[in-house]
Amino acid sequence: MGQLKNTGALDIFRVIAAFLVVAIHTSPLYTMNETADFVLTRIIGRIAVPFFIMVTGYFLYTSIARRDKAYIKGFVLKIGAIYLISMILFLPINFYSGYMEENLLWGNLIKDILFDGTFYHLWYLPAMILGVLLVTSGIQRFGFTMSFLVAILLYGMGLLGDSYYGLVQQTHILTTFYDVIFTLFDYTRNGLFFVPIYLLLGMVISKSNKRISTKHIVIGLVVSSVFLLIEGLLLNSLSWQRHDSMYILLVPCMYFLFLFLLQLPGKNTKTLRNLSLIIYLIHPWMIVLVRGFAKVIHQEQLFINNNFIHYLTVSFLSFLAAWIVTYFLPKGRKRKIDLSPDNRAWVEIDLAALRHNAKELQRILPNHCQLMPVVKANAYGHGDVAIARELMRAGLKMFAIATLAEGVRLRQYGIKGDILILGYTNPKELASLEKYNLIQTVVDFPYARTLNEYPKKVRVHIKIDTGMHRLGVNVENLAEIEKVFECKNLKVEGMFSHLSVSDSLVEEDVEFTQKQIQQFYQMIDSLKAKGYDTGKLHIQASYGILNYPDLACDYARAGIALYGVLSADDKVRANVHLKPVLALKARIALIKEIQPGEVISYGRQFTAKSKMKIATVTIGYADGIPRRLYENNAYVILHSKTAPIIGRICMDQLMIDVSHIHEVKNNDVVTIIGVDGTEQIRCEDIARQCGTITNDILSGLGPRLDYVYLH
Ligand SMILES: *Cc1c(COP(=O)(O)O)cnc(C)c1O
Repeated sequence: MGQLKNTGALDIFRVIAAFLVVAIHTSPLYTMNETADFVLTRIIGRIAVPFFIMVTGYFLYTSIARRDKAYIKGFVLKIGAIYLISMILFLPINFYSGYMEENLLWGNLIKDILFDGTFYHLWYLPAMILGVLLVTSGIQRFGFTMSFLVAILLYGMGLLGDSYYGLVQQTHILTTFYDVIFTLFDYTRNGLFFVPIYLLLGMVISKSNKRISTKHIVIGLVVSSVFLLIEGLLLNSLSWQRHDSMYILLVPCMYFLFLFLLQLPGKNTKTLRNLSLIIYLIHPWMIVLVRGFAKVIHQEQLFINNNFIHYLTVSFLSFLAAWIVTYFLPKGRKRKIDLSPDNRAWVEIDLAALRHNAKELQRILPNHCQLMPVVKANAYGHGDVAIARELMRAGLKMFAIATLAEGVRLRQYGIKGDILILGYTNPKELASLEKYNLIQTVVDFPYARTLNEYPKKVRVHIKIDTGMHRLGVNVENLAEIEKVFECKNLKVEGMFSHLSVSDSLVEEDVEFTQKQIQQFYQMIDSLKAKGYDTGKLHIQASYGILNYPDLACDYARAGIALYGVLSADDKVRANVHLKPVLALKARIALIKEIQPGEVISYGRQFTAKSKMKIATVTIGYADGIPRRLYENNAYVILHSKTAPIIGRICMDQLMIDVSHIHEVKNNDVVTIIGVDGTEQIRCEDIARQCGTITNDILSGLGPRLDYVYLH
């Protein structure tokens, strides 16, 4: 499941699709050429709504696969709320147009609310709700394939009530049958006949691992589009169409179009997603307004009768209105994280570098093995929520953290997918584990027994100790491992181990690692032979990925490498190019002249030998700069020049020598980790100077720092 996919182009195409819907409702080419208008609005335009449905299916698949009922319920409620607001929004036009009088029969009104929509474009929302409910329960009860077959059947029935209605009219029984259908719904283009197949098609793409070459996708897209055009024109000339939303060739055409869009580069933008939805919902109002206004200023000829100008005006106004609404929409909690860099001291996160690293690591892993980003310790100081969110958007579906609280935090900030707690959780906290749908590591058999006492199912991965001797059931103790499987209340979803010297390429270390790996797989084979379902397997952390990329695992737990650094300047086997994600910056608070013989900072450790210009920088050890850095000739960068740290590092400040930097002034930016012009300080450099590893430095970056995310 889930290779890293680029979904930015989907967001862009949503806006295009929204304008196609506007075209369907305004027939822009009608005054120029009726056939051209038919092709644009009744054939090409018909890709818009299936596209929206497929996007939903594509992103909903993870939740469906995980049986995340809460998420699906949340989704349905959200669409329901949007539907309610939209109904109210169009109520004035309903009254004005006499809809209410026509619909005095409650039966009609209920039918509209449930299936057809109370305004001509609103059918989409109830259809989505019905479609999502049908598909999710279908998959749960009958499986994916069966649901797909049923969806095809339903689509077939829908076709006969839509573009292929001519066939129905030729047989008496079918006519009677469809008469019944059309007393229930106005069209077959609804949540029952139309939505399921496109939802499932989006899910097929989300689920599939197969790589289809761009060439084949383009060929598929071109061929199916050509046949779609022929199909549409033919049906039109035969006058078979009762309505024109559904075509046979639309299905393959949408499949290839979607795959094609996934090949394109593009940035994920929530604004575009909101824009497209609001344009869709609001444009009929704009049509009414443009018409009304044209009448008032006596410009019907220009704004109404010239369909093309009409289309452009409606599109422009819809876009403008949507843009204004989007601007005022609550931005959610994300806002809090994005601060402007006017701060005292801050971390700058390059999300493009993060995406690049994820792709690089995924590239060297086998196809069936997915990255499991390790976002413990505030994502190694990078900001856990923002990092997890970005990787979630990039298509990753399983995250690892060290503690329960870290997992709860991710959930509270809306991180979806599976979350595995790598460490120990107090059994008293099991209710939170359940409430936030987290997966717990079984650290040994007695712990498994304790977890098993919890009255509900606990999702777990079993940790196996293959020589690290930290957590895990001993790999040689097969009987105990089996006993974990016998715990009725544990839902064993995976098994894993941790390598203790995978960073070393020294012969004995490599042998040790290979023994760890071998013992793990032997144990797995024994369990499988006895019929146990061992679930998802994972063993590599960053160095495991870089030095042993070919293991037959389902996941690889990437921590430090994902952030674009190694623990130290090590040689690794894999040929990957990683980019550092994090930079650490602060500012100059003030500049001073110091006379020879004067001392700087605590303890009188630094004495000026000559006249000096020094600056105080707004960052200290409470922000995570190791205090011992000073003892090792450390420096920072400023105006693309290095400036030595002088005197002891204080809790909130440090002093630097800027005698040689003439242009320095207050508030200038100082780089502690990162690039400035031609100079660079890598996290590895600082770690080496402090006699530790980068993991230690990064995870020590203090909560007092601000975070700036570059998208
Ligand atoms: C922290 C951790 C990782 C990630 O390690 P990196 O070397 O940073 O990739 C993986 N697995 C376990 C069990 C961990 O605790």
